[in-house]
Amino acid sequence: MAVRAAGQIAGICHLYRSSSLGGFRTLSQNVSSSKHTPSNAPETTVDHLIYTPEHFALKESIKKIIDQEINPHVDQWEAEGKFPAHRIFKILGNAGILGVNKPVEYGGLGLDFSYSVAVSEELGNIRCGGIPMAIGVQTDMATPALARFGSHELKTEFLLPSILGDKVACLGVSEVGAGSDVSSIMTKAVRQGDEYVINGGKMWTTNGTQADWMCLLANTSDGPPHRNKSLICLPMDLPGVHIARQIDKMGMRSSDTAEVFFDDVRVPSKNVIGKEGMGFTYQMLQFQEERLWAVANTLTTMDIVIQETIDYTRQRKIFKMPVLHHQTVHFRLAELQTEVELLRSLLHRATALFIKGNDVTKLASMAKLKAGRLARELGDSCLQYWGGMGFTNDVLVSRFYRDSRLISIGGGADEVMLGIICKYMDTLPNPPR
Ligand SMILES: Cc1cc2nc3c(=O)[nH]c(=O)nc-3n(C[C@H](O)[C@H](O)[C@H](O)COP(=O)(O)OP(=O)(O)OC[C@H]3O[C@@H](n4cnc5c(N)ncnc54)[C@H](O)[C@@H]3O)c2cc1C
Repeated sequence: MAVRAAGQIAGICHLYRSSSLGGFRTLSQNVSSSKHTPSNAPETTVDHLIYTPEHFALKESIKKIIDQEINPHVDQWEAEGKFPAHRIFKILGNAGILGVNKPVEYGGLGLDFSYSVAVSEELGNIRCGGIPMAIGVQTDMATPALARFGSHELKTEFLLPSILGDKVACLGVSEVGAGSDVSSIMTKAVRQGDEYVINGGKMWTTNGTQADWMCLLANTSDGPPHRNKSLICLPMDLPGVHIARQIDKMGMRSSDTAEVFFDDVRVPSKNVIGKEGMGFTYQMLQFQEERLWAVANTLTTMDIVIQETIDYTRQRKIFKMPVLHHQTVHFRLAELQTEVELLRSLLHRATALFIKGNDVTKLASMAKLKAGRLARELGDSCLQYWGGMGFTNDVLVSRFYRDSRLISIGGGADEVMLGIICKYMDTLPNPPR
């Protein structure tokens, strides 16, 4: 296994040829680039809990792409409210990064989920939350169920081009009237012959204005809400698919978020992923990967925000000494770094158990809950130490403060995570009879 992975990762590194971008440098990099050893320096290639030298090689190849193809443009894409998903996904697809844990026969690397976690951690080096989130939707939110349960025909049509970076995917679960309570979605897919006719709409669809296909959750019968839903691969260019608008958001600015309507959209019945009626269950399984992915992605950015706060406060003097030298500041940063390391340990433990086939719903929910709460605390504390500079749009900390607020809301809000944890702790009151 290690030998096979080593060959594949070497292949990735070889595949990716860096392009020179000249001396382009963004304002935020000018203000906050770090010259010190990053605070996650203890991560070593030897005796790591889940990462092998192959994981680290993969991370290094991703870092090169980020530095050369993504970070120089982030400020521009944030200002424009969208990044060019097709162009960036093609670069990532060429490098093998969009399907590290997907089957080899569909363009993936056939590695385990720990490689996805490594990719996600590395994508945390992108200087915004929107682009990593869009990539995560492609790799770990819209495609896991298709890879696991989809037919060969569906995988060939939708999974393969998504892994190669030729098609952009989106996930259509949330609706105007249903987010936390997924079981109450209203979008209907009614069987007519060998087609479904779809009516309804989806809200908050990441990649929605650029996507080629949607992994759609719809009601395919009138049965009980946990058994009447199916996941359907829906091409976004079908007649009756309308992008109503791109939503204007406080954060994740470079990620396009759409509201989508379906008006008598006809899709072949063979586009159902796996078994009809299993969509809710498949989606809940898909959420495990989404949540672990989201935690991994936050960790690196949290490290960077702490480190850049250290760098800034070390050189910024108040009352004749650096801001950092005030005990309240360096003690607080030490506390926050400790919390980040605790979260990293939980993530790696959950990942190690997951790749051995265990149900990690409880640990993944705990990690997602903690990631959202810690990101809010960390963003707020660090921004404070930047003073007025923290309130500008020129520094990563203010972008992180805005972007990371989503972690406690998206992919299951904090309260939804608490509900799941309570279920596992058997502390929920019995429902009234
Ligand atoms: C930028 C962005 C991108 C997104 N991308 C996607 C995407 O690609 N695909 C997709 O399908 N969805 C996406 N979402 C939707 C996201 O998953 C939902 O916003 C989330 O699930 C919450 O649903 P809601 O917004 O409808 O809030 P609601 O369900 O209305 O909940 C409101 C609040 O109620 C509280 N609450 C929830 N449950 C409980 C409880 N049991 N007890 C007490 N309080 C509770 C929580 O604080 C919650 O925030 C995205 C959202 C955003 C903002």
